Amino acid sequence: MTKYDYDLFVIGAGSGGVRAARIAAGYGAKVAIAEEYRVGGTCVIRGCVPKKLFVYASHFAEEFEQAKGFGWKVGKSKFDWHKLLANKDAEIDRLNGIYIKNLKAAGVKIIESRAEFEDAHTLRLIADDSTVTAERILVAPGAAPYVPHNVPGATYSITSNEAFHLEKLPKSIAIIGGGYIAVEFAGIFNGLGVDTHLLYRGGPILRGFDQDLREGVQREMIKKGIDVQTHANVIGIVDHTTHFNVEIADKPDIDVELVMYATGRVPNTDGLCLEKAGVILDGAGAIMVDEYSKTNIDNIYAVGDVTNRAQLTPVAIREGHAFADTVYGGKPVAVDHALIPTAVFSQPEMGTAGLTEEAARKQYGKVDIYKSTFRPMKHTLSGSDEQMMMKLIVDPESDKVLGCHIMGPDAGEMAQLLGISLKMGATKADFDATMAVHPTASEELVTMRTKSEG
Ligand code: NDP
Repeated sequence: MTKYDYDLFVIGAGSGGVRAARIAAGYGAKVAIAEEYRVGGTCVIRGCVPKKLFVYASHFAEEFEQAKGFGWKVGKSKFDWHKLLANKDAEIDRLNGIYIKNLKAAGVKIIESRAEFEDAHTLRLIADDSTVTAERILVAPGAAPYVPHNVPGATYSITSNEAFHLEKLPKSIAIIGGGYIAVEFAGIFNGLGVDTHLLYRGGPILRGFDQDLREGVQREMIKKGIDVQTHANVIGIVDHTTHFNVEIADKPDIDVELVMYATGRVPNTDGLCLEKAGVILDGAGAIMVDEYSKTNIDNIYAVGDVTNRAQLTPVAIREGHAFADTVYGGKPVAVDHALIPTAVFSQPEMGTAGLTEEAARKQYGKVDIYKSTFRPMKHTLSGSDEQMMMKLIVDPESDKVLGCHIMGPDAGEMAQLLGISLKMGATKADFDATMAVHPTASEELVTMRTKSEG
């Protein structure tokens, strides 16, 4: 009989925490999970899921336009923001319900409260000011939007959290940042008819991705009507009641109805009192863990965005599952963070697996590049001049495909499958030996024969 209230107490019912709690309970552990907001976490409640629904919504105006080329006469269309919000909320409620049901079915006790450390085995539940003890504690509270408060007027801005609940769709918006969230929301707002400005301090957008794709996505976004300004450092935001004036260093100001910051997310460690348990954080406030997600304190573990390994839902889920397998299932699993395929739901979409050309050149010296830019078949009739791009990076020594990068429709779906091939160590010869699926865009991946650089 354990001397603690629970075998495992999980802080945060997001992707990583929920998975860990369910799997650990499945192995017979007595588990509780505390959540201060809503079960489901960022991904389900105010991240990936509602974002993707908004992306779908934002594509229609373009598609109604493109339908003409296929013989359709589409009547006057009208968009209802409140209807989208209501339908999105209903879907989020449904998913939230499923998460709760699954936790309960696994025997996990859900506690609606914030939890903070008292010591390495004791937590304070803020909702009723009680304490609870556990043999092990898993910290999985995620991350929160970062807004640089040193910029005067930055507090007038919204973040992605608020973007999902706006009372009305603004006529114009300035989005500050050039990463996943800024680029995805620029596409969403632009598609919904908002005059959209993307202000990025560097250039081109999406630092960390392959340069050709970064330039390609930026070019296409500009073609769609987004005012993408690179090397645009916002130095102040002034509230003029009817609008905001955004001051940009060495560039003309812009006036917009709404300003949104999308400048990264910081680990949610503030106020958790981790110091009372002796848990060490890194300089960015992230919890430092080993390959089994264990902190410097033997009975305390952490998974997901709070550890800043890769701020992605599937990574948090994998880490949570591996933790439970390792600690409660007797199967030590160290999560492999190499080669994480990913998608940016920009417009056009981007899907990527493996190394960028820049990273491959750094690591391998000489690499072969196969690149193809073309007009997707749909656009031969749609009237759109949007381009699609595919790029393979190959190690000339081993013939291994080191990276694959796609810009265009369904690039995210392709990235998942390419991730498997690359993880298996596929060579260019394997790609070449694979029969094409015709007519698709992805057949280009197995028919590129001429090196564009090498
Ligand atoms: P990102 O790290 O992707 O991008 C942050 C952006 O903000 C960068 O362009 C960065 O510029 C810029 N920035 C940072 N600090 C400042 C500052 N002080 N002033 C001006 N600009 C600044 O973060 P996001 O917020 O877009 O997304 C957070 C995380 O969420 C991502 O890392 C991603 O892992 C995850 N996510 C994943 C999605 C997906 O899988 N599709 C979708 C959405 C989010 P610079 O490049 O110069 O550093």
